[in-house]
Amino acid sequence: MNSTPTPTHCPYCALQCGMNLSPTPDGGVEVLERADFPVNRGALCGKGRTAPAVLSSRVRLTSPLVREGGALVPAGWDEALDRIAGALGRIRAEHGADALGVFGGGGLTNEKAYALGKFARVALGTSQIDYNGRFCMSSAAAAGTRAFGLDRGLPFPLEDIPKSGCVILVGSNLAETMPPSLRFLTELRENGGTLIVVDPRRTKTAEQADLHLAPRPGTDLALALGLLHLVVAEGRTDEAYIAERTTGWEDARAAAMAHWPEYVERITGVPVPQLREAVRMFCDPETAMVLTARGPEQQSKGTDTVGAWINLCLATGRAGRPHSGYGCLTGQGNGQGGREHGQKADQLPGYRKLDDPAARRHVAEVWGVDPDSLPGPGRSAYELLDALGTDIRALLLMGSNPVVSAPRAAHVEERIGSLDFLAVCDVVLSETAELADVVLPVTQWAEETGTTTNLEGRVLLRRQAVTPPEGVRSDLEVMHELAARLGVEKGFPTDPEEVFEELRRASAGGPADYSGITYRRLAKENGVFWPCPAPRPADPVPGPHSGDGPPTVTPRGPARGDGVREGGVPQGGTREAGVATAGNREGGVAADGNRKGETRETAVAQAANREGGVEEAHPGTPRLFLDRFATPDGRARFVPVAHRAAAEEPDDEYPVLLTTGRVVAQYQSGAQTRRVDELNAAAPGPFVELHPRLAARLGAAEGDPVAVVSRRGRAVAPARITRAIRPDTVFMPFHWPGEGRANTLTNPALDPTSRMPEFKACAVRVEAVPPA
Ligand code: SF4
Repeated sequence: MNSTPTPTHCPYCALQCGMNLSPTPDGGVEVLERADFPVNRGALCGKGRTAPAVLSSRVRLTSPLVREGGALVPAGWDEALDRIAGALGRIRAEHGADALGVFGGGGLTNEKAYALGKFARVALGTSQIDYNGRFCMSSAAAAGTRAFGLDRGLPFPLEDIPKSGCVILVGSNLAETMPPSLRFLTELRENGGTLIVVDPRRTKTAEQADLHLAPRPGTDLALALGLLHLVVAEGRTDEAYIAERTTGWEDARAAAMAHWPEYVERITGVPVPQLREAVRMFCDPETAMVLTARGPEQQSKGTDTVGAWINLCLATGRAGRPHSGYGCLTGQGNGQGGREHGQKADQLPGYRKLDDPAARRHVAEVWGVDPDSLPGPGRSAYELLDALGTDIRALLLMGSNPVVSAPRAAHVEERIGSLDFLAVCDVVLSETAELADVVLPVTQWAEETGTTTNLEGRVLLRRQAVTPPEGVRSDLEVMHELAARLGVEKGFPTDPEEVFEELRRASAGGPADYSGITYRRLAKENGVFWPCPAPRPADPVPGPHSGDGPPTVTPRGPARGDGVREGGVPQGGTREAGVATAGNREGGVAADGNRKGETRETAVAQAANREGGVEEAHPGTPRLFLDRFATPDGRARFVPVAHRAAAEEPDDEYPVLLTTGRVVAQYQSGAQTRRVDELNAAAPGPFVELHPRLAARLGAAEGDPVAVVSRRGRAVAPARITRAIRPDTVFMPFHWPGEGRANTLTNPALDPTSRMPEFKACAVRVEAVPPA
């Protein structure tokens, strides 16, 4: 391999921190600082710093495993692939294509996510594909699409956060999930802005807030409604904005006015004076934003909960204005890109809807298949897992570990165990892989090249920095080989750039348009924000613009596939592409250090464009919605929402609420990070966080084992006693399997729109565990 450091990105969370990987004499790599990437400017958390340990882990899989006599034993690649293809073909012949399930992950690169969706629908012919991102941010995606016509986690760069006057951070513990991003909040406060954190726990992030609101888990929908009620009552709405840029206000207003502050206090436990203070802090400055994460999203009413926070942003004229608005802090490494390219049950590449005839025609043409041969939408992630062993007889799983990460995990484990056939691709023997009939050892981040899209919608190039160990192959090779064995000889290339080129074509004209992005361009720039359409002859090439910052263009409306976009504007029309709006100019004049950084990036982009010719001319879209939203009429949509209880409320038998989350030293199901000694030392196992009053009732001391029992099962872990949590609530991190598995307890009650399970609130009882 190259002996010079390779600039690339972390394999873990959606921040996708930049890092350099430098070769070491023993054939490995070490992480060096990479200060030029604006998201983290060289800073990394412990997970990113230690990520190379997983490459050379002693438990790394380097040979396929097949089940023989009840045990997994090493086998050759041909035998393993033959077994998978044989089983999938046999089950399809006996039970039909929908008896085959495919389960992907939000950590897969864009290329893999794209290829997996195509593999399911073309090579297998099944509709039964979904992925673990359904458990992550699907409620925010649904609410964003409903309100703005388009979901891109953050519709603005992270660097806009410190320029805002106030940030409400809802259900996000950035200090533990994305530590380098904390600097944006620190800079916000240094600039005179204020921070409000909404979280049932006084987390490390909440400790930095000017105001911490600690609602009961599952009640932040009511909290947002209470704030909106006060905004109206105190005359803080932006009537001109509401009239010009939104629809549906009257119904949303009426819904909010039914939520009196005193009623909201009774539901949430947040005192009315704190509600008033939050409204003052949010409405006083000219700019303000709301950022949500898993707290409001992982609820059986997650879409409406996020919708309530969006309504607050719309009523106060925040969305679609510089340094203001609503954004979702996506969690997984490619949580954003993972939901755009077709591994979601209801979507095709380019963030197109699977049930849209024009979208089907477009993608089918790129794939060289008959549109009518494409299956329709399938089951959502939990529903798919719940159907294993019944309708779905075989499962191919890539980049996920549902035995630890799915809700009602013991049931999911039992369903997986009842399959006729399970194939898993992974880098280590995860708890789900342990149940497989065939396990394929695959390459991981630094051993392969591919793109991800971070939480800002910034498409990034992850570069190969080391040679993979002998015996492993890439997920793309796996799909190529399996497709060929299933009789599909073409259409599944193994070269990631070739896959990306096809993805570009498939996404062209869709909401998430990547057609103007190339590997060559990504290699020269610090990412490109989608939408980034390839110019067509009729398109004006954007710019020159104000010169103060990157051009900010309005995303095209959803494609109708007939040359006319919704809203009646012809493709290539001047209103759509590269139009520097008044809002953009406003966004471009706020000169400061960050802005200068953006100018440098834009200059690089423009230089790349000149080199690349018109094909690469679009600069990308760091900021969305500044002149119009992506709805047919260009206006954001208020949606009236009302408080409703969590699917499971405390009662005499289960009197306490459980909420789940993360710790800084572990990532997701821990399949990778639990294999890193330094991370294990920092976070060796699960725990139950509980208030001293609850601990006293149990007679539990710090470190004593306590049992948490829900209607779905029982988990035991040491007590961690703290006043940072409400007395009516306990918290467990979900990174571990076994006795302390938090997801044994969680409730798979699904949001009716997003199909997101309710990880954040379920009823439990807590018991002291007698000494053994
Ligand atoms: Fe950055 Fe996230 Fe990686 Fe930590 S895990 S280094 S915050 S990308």
